[in-house]
Amino acid sequence: MSQTQRSRGHVDERTARKVAEEAREAEWRLPSFGKQLFLGDFRLDLVHPHPRPDAEARRKGEEFLAALTGFCASRIDPAAIERESRIPDDVVAGLRDLGALGMKIPEKHGGLGLSQLYYGRALMVVGSVSPALAALLSAHQSIGVPQPVKLFGTREQKDEWLPRCARQVSAFLLTEPDVGSDPARLRATAVPDGDDYVLNGVKLWTTNGVVADLVVVMARVPKSDGRRGGISAFVVDMATPGITVENRNAFMGLRGIENGVTRFHDVRVPKANLIGAEGAGLKIALTTLNTGRLSLPAICAASGKWAAKIAREWSRERVQWGRPIGEHEAVSRKVAFIAATAYAMEAMLDLSGQLADDERNDIRIEAALAKLWTSEMACRAADELIQLRGGRGYETAESLAARGERGVPAEQLLRDLRINRIFEGSTEIMHLLIAREAVDAHLSVAGDIIDPDASTGQKARAAAKAGGFYARWLPTLVTGAGHRPSSYGEFGPLAKHLRYVERASRKLARSIFYAAGRWQGGLEYRQGFLGRMVDIGAELYAMSAVCVRAQADSSAERPFISGGAVPGMSAVRLADAFCRQSRVRVEELFDGLWRNTDAMDVKLARSVLAGDFAWVEEGVLDPSIPGPWIAPSDPGPSQKDDVHRTIP
Ligand SMILES: Cc1cc2nc3c(=O)[nH]c(=O)nc-3n(C[C@H](O)[C@H](O)[C@H](O)COP(=O)(O)OP(=O)(O)OC[C@H]3O[C@@H](n4cnc5c(N)ncnc54)[C@H](O)[C@@H]3O)c2cc1C
Repeated sequence: MSQTQRSRGHVDERTARKVAEEAREAEWRLPSFGKQLFLGDFRLDLVHPHPRPDAEARRKGEEFLAALTGFCASRIDPAAIERESRIPDDVVAGLRDLGALGMKIPEKHGGLGLSQLYYGRALMVVGSVSPALAALLSAHQSIGVPQPVKLFGTREQKDEWLPRCARQVSAFLLTEPDVGSDPARLRATAVPDGDDYVLNGVKLWTTNGVVADLVVVMARVPKSDGRRGGISAFVVDMATPGITVENRNAFMGLRGIENGVTRFHDVRVPKANLIGAEGAGLKIALTTLNTGRLSLPAICAASGKWAAKIAREWSRERVQWGRPIGEHEAVSRKVAFIAATAYAMEAMLDLSGQLADDERNDIRIEAALAKLWTSEMACRAADELIQLRGGRGYETAESLAARGERGVPAEQLLRDLRINRIFEGSTEIMHLLIAREAVDAHLSVAGDIIDPDASTGQKARAAAKAGGFYARWLPTLVTGAGHRPSSYGEFGPLAKHLRYVERASRKLARSIFYAAGRWQGGLEYRQGFLGRMVDIGAELYAMSAVCVRAQADSSAERPFISGGAVPGMSAVRLADAFCRQSRVRVEELFDGLWRNTDAMDVKLARSVLAGDFAWVEEGVLDPSIPGPWIAPSDPGPSQKDDVHRTIP
């Protein structure tokens, strides 16, 4: 990169950060378990005893779950959706008639008014049959039109659109060809003109975009005299002239989703369709995601449960080398990992969902941790499932069935799950987003010390403020309940794990404090450190959730699931196993905070990008570049100068 490019990049990066920062909800009005965890303050009281739905929420939720389960079991053919890459219209219509398009829409607006907990459990049921169908429901209800309108719409907007959303599919349009994780580059425009805005731009990868009736579009209102402008959110009726859907995109997985490229050409949108204020679009999107981020964990938790079932069945049934494969240690470890992880994913999902319903806590960190952690762990579990199924794990369900075996779609599971690590905030972006919240306390007291734009006076005032804060805070990190053998005694065999979480939380806070002092403003660029730090927080949250859940599950009244009780100490045993596995990961992550190859890798990557090691790529062909097997008249997708079919 040239000096000019670097400095231009620097300006761009600062702008990107500024835009992200402005979209952040800066205030914390309610207590946050996740935030305190990163500050070394393990507030078990915020999540224990496990919150429970009230009688009415439970009745409504269980009734709907029973109807939905019946529908999914009898009316949906998952193999057909996979084979034809399409969700049949009658399936969507059937779900609509059940009320599944309006699960979270209040009853007075024609929806079911389900709680977040039961919405999550409904997505689990649908996701277990067809992740593509769960993606349709979740894109519509978690990020599509209903949620931002419910949270930020005026009374008129709610009255107009929520009843429609209970019957029609909607979509959320933010991404553009040049705008993925970085909304600062957003190009779509909404120019005020009389009583309308005129929209122009192209939106990429819009889930449901091909079939949606209503969409929420992020577009930039230009700044002008007396007008703040900025990225804004609009509800747009897809029947408006000037909208074209140009492609139905196809992916590695989620074969049934109706995902398109949507072009807006001079589309007139009434001013009444602006949600919130001009310039508030990203904040609206992020706030919507506070609970919206819990949809993907539901789909991941569903996959974990199914993987646990198949892993158990196959590991017992398949005999090799004189024993069921589940009795060979290498396979047992996989079975144990999948079962324990499935329980933890469900625990995290339900706890976060019920916390959201109770509105006593700010759950933005918990929801983000749940999205990050379950999307990663579900993929690992699916990969282990494929491995223990051997060749059958790699074979498609259709092929297995065609030669007379049970059509187990293990390979499809991994393909369907893989996107969860990319959309609604990629793992890398979730690391940054959560890390930003985790270091918020430090930035709010000491931010000006490390701000290159702060004046000497501001820095001096910040130093004095920080001195006072750290003088009070640091002593709290030295010792705590985790050092007292009697702490958390009501958890029996799980108490030791909660003591570990308490100690690890303080150690994490000390590590963050040390890193902030060592790297100061440079900490935000230490993505390796930040990622591990957030992953530790995620494991600690998972351990807390599973302990609290196991305690509730092993008590007389089962909190959530309809059906049979968890036998005896079974839940405690599985939670104990999960915590032991998780602690091994946490210790590795702590170790990696200070012992890693991050700095070397950054330097090496720079050289790789400069082409210093291009020789390592020699000796193969590049199938993405058109070769002689394509007619010479077809220029192919790319003829750029720097792309070569054969490696030089
Ligand atoms: C199946 C599917 C459905 C989708 N549905 C929708 C939808 O309904 N609506 C919608 O608006 N969008 C949707 N998307 C878009 C999706 O949200 C984006 O793919 C996602 O935000 C990532 O953007 P990108 O693909 O452009 O990757 P990029 O932003 O180009 O990122 C590429 C890689 O770089 C990493 N990266 C980027 N910036 C940083 C950074 N600052 N630090 C560290 N790492 C970084 C990313 O994590 C990623 O690994 C969908 C995409 C797919 C594939």
